[in-house]
Amino acid sequence: MILHKELLDVSKRKAKPAENELAFGRFFMDHMLLMDYTPEVQAWHNARIVPYAPFAMSPASLVLHYGQEVFEGMKAYRRKDHKIGLFRPQDNISRLNDSCRRLCIPELPADDVFEALCELIRIDQDWIPKGDGTSLYIRPTVIASEASLGVKVSSSYTFFVIAGPVGAYYAEGVNPIKIWVEETYVRAAEGGLGEAKTMANYAASMLATKRAKERGFTQVLWLDARDRRYVEEVGTMNMFFKIAGEVITAPLDGTILPGVTRRSVIQLCKDMQIPVSERRISIDEVIEAQQNGTLEEAFGTGTAAVISPVGELFYRDHAYRVGNGQTGEISKKMYDELTGIQTGARPDPHHWTITL
Ligand SMILES: *Cc1c(COP(=O)(O)O)cnc(C)c1O
Repeated sequence: MILHKELLDVSKRKAKPAENELAFGRFFMDHMLLMDYTPEVQAWHNARIVPYAPFAMSPASLVLHYGQEVFEGMKAYRRKDHKIGLFRPQDNISRLNDSCRRLCIPELPADDVFEALCELIRIDQDWIPKGDGTSLYIRPTVIASEASLGVKVSSSYTFFVIAGPVGAYYAEGVNPIKIWVEETYVRAAEGGLGEAKTMANYAASMLATKRAKERGFTQVLWLDARDRRYVEEVGTMNMFFKIAGEVITAPLDGTILPGVTRRSVIQLCKDMQIPVSERRISIDEVIEAQQNGTLEEAFGTGTAAVISPVGELFYRDHAYRVGNGQTGEISKKMYDELTGIQTGARPDPHHWTITL
């Protein structure tokens, strides 16, 4: 692959934000990666690294009207050995292509994307923050760029990668969050887009999330669309419960996002000989466990937040405390183990990290 580079003069590069002021996703490094797909070429081409800047697009671009888009979220870390670490990046690239297939977007050349992405991070590596809990958040995205108000599969696309330094995802940091169990609205139904990482799922979630926030909750716990009974996921995270010693997460049945962090936590549980199941779990089972004292922990998993312990669930006018309301033992263990592997502070027996 040919990768063109147009780099900013060093004197024109932006000042970096202070590491204690890193809100999530508000700062962007100096360069971005772009690639095109056009009907003339019928393939991804013109890979280039250019200065971060707004790009011009037609107001009739299909993505703006019908949401033909997919994205990813991944992180680069400044490791203890000063190398740059990426966590399971191939998993993100292959999931991006899974999402592409669902949204009728031509698949990307995985190896070329990986190489170009590594080059982008190398170029702007001074942007990777060093403090505990900080990282460089990377957002690969594909948008449908054909100008047409007729509903159709686009014939042209833009792939771009932007990235920037981030600190903790939630204001609570790794402290427990309060969650609203949603019964009115749903995020995804069987046969829908739930397992694709695409903007429409987030559009579907906005109103319920806004209302939950107004009531003092950080996130929404989604229930299945058919029965409003089975637990699916939380906002931007997959969801885990620990009940009477068993760690439980919903199965990948098409309505939830197959999280890389989810997959990693399941593997770490197995490694640590903690009983772990991927099975349907109803909200009734969770509430019953809370009432008989066996709901030991609940936590969300995702690249952005890593592990987010849940201290309280609010369901049908009642608040239910999870465990003792504090960060649970497994949540803490998983957070320490995952971030340890990501930063090179702990052994990486599954070779999940790639260093640059
Ligand atoms: C990205 C995402 C997740 C988390 O996936 P990771 O690969 O662990 O970051 C969970 N749920 C939804 C809806 C997501 O978009």
